[in-house]
Amino acid sequence: MLTKNNREDLKRLRDDPSRVVILGGGRGGSAMLETLFDEVLVDIVAVVDLQEDAPGILLAKQRHIATFTDVATALIASAPCVAFNLTDNEMVEEVAANILGVGGVIGGLEARLMWRMVTDLKAAKKDLEFQATHDVLTNLVNRRFMVEQVEQEVERCRRYDMQCSVIMLDLDHFKQVNDEHGHAAGDEVLKGVTCIIAEQLRSADILARWGGEEFLILLPHTDKKAALSAAEKCLSAVQGAELDVADAVRLQMSFSAGVASFSELKQGLSTTGMVDALLAISDRRLYAAKSSGRGQVAYQD
Ligand code: GH3
Ligand code: MG
Ligand code: MG
Repeated sequence: MLTKNNREDLKRLRDDPSRVVILGGGRGGSAMLETLFDEVLVDIVAVVDLQEDAPGILLAKQRHIATFTDVATALIASAPCVAFNLTDNEMVEEVAANILGVGGVIGGLEARLMWRMVTDLKAAKKDLEFQATHDVLTNLVNRRFMVEQVEQEVERCRRYDMQCSVIMLDLDHFKQVNDEHGHAAGDEVLKGVTCIIAEQLRSADILARWGGEEFLILLPHTDKKAALSAAEKCLSAVQGAELDVADAVRLQMSFSAGVASFSELKQGLSTTGMVDALLAISDRRLYAAKSSGRGQVAYQD
C-alpha cells in the first residue's frame, strides 16, 4: 500500500521524471524505448545511433524524441541524468562516462540484463494480451473481445451513417459428435468448421467463438442482403465439407444461423442498447432457424 510519504515521492518523480538518453538504436535500444516510453518516472530525451535509419531512431522520430548520430553532442545537448548504453561499444561508454560520470552510464552486463528483462516483459505482455482476447482451441477471438468490436462498429455506423450486420450461428446436433465419437473428435469438428467459415469471409469480417459450438460473425459495411448471402455461403461450405475427425471417421456438419443488421435497429437507442438489440435479434432468429428444421439461415421475424 502507498503511504502518504511514498505517494508524495511518486508525485515528485512524476512531476520531475529522470531524463534518460538511449545510446544505440538497434533492437536493444528500440525495445528499451518502447518500454520506457510509457513509463512516467522516465523522460526519454534523446536516442543516438550512427545509422539514421536504425529502428530506434525511426521510432524516436515518430514519437518526437530528439535523435543524434554523435554521442557527445547528444549528451551535452540533452543533459540526461542517465544514459543507457545498448551499443555494446566500450568507446561509446567511455565518451558517455567522461561527460556524465561513471554513475551516469548503464552499460555492459547491466544494460544487457535490462535489455533481456525488457524484451522478456514485452513478449510476456504480448502473450497475455493474446490469451485474454483469443480462444485456445480455435485461435479465434473470444466473446469479450468480440463485444468490444461490435460496440466499435455500431458506434461507427451511428456516427457515419454506415451499415453493418452480424451472423450468430450454432452447430447442429453437435452433442451427438461428442457422444458418438468422443470429445477430441468434437474439438476437431470445431477447429475444422472454424477454418471452413474463415475461408468464406472477407478480411474485414471478424469471426469469434461466442460460446461452446456457437460463433458470431461481424460484417462491417454489409447490409442484410449481403450478410444473408455470406451466411448462406458459409452454410453451403460447411455442409459440403467432410471433416476428418479421427481414424476413418469423416463427418458432415451443418449449422443454424440468425442474421441481424444495424438498419433494423430502433433509432434513439444508446450504442450499448443497439449492441444488445443486434445480438438479441440474431439470437432469436438463430433459434427460429433451429425450430424450423436446422441447417438454415433466418433473417426476419
Ligand atoms: P442443437 O442442434 O440444438 O444446437 O444441438 P446441439 O447438440 O448442437 O446442442 P447442445 O447445446 O445440446 O450441445 C452442445 C454441446 O457442445 C454440449 C457441450 O458439451 C459441447 N461443447 C461445448 N464446448 C465444447 C468444446 O470446446 N469441445 C467439445 N468437444 N464439445 C463442446
Ligand atoms: Mg448446437
Ligand atoms: Mg449451442
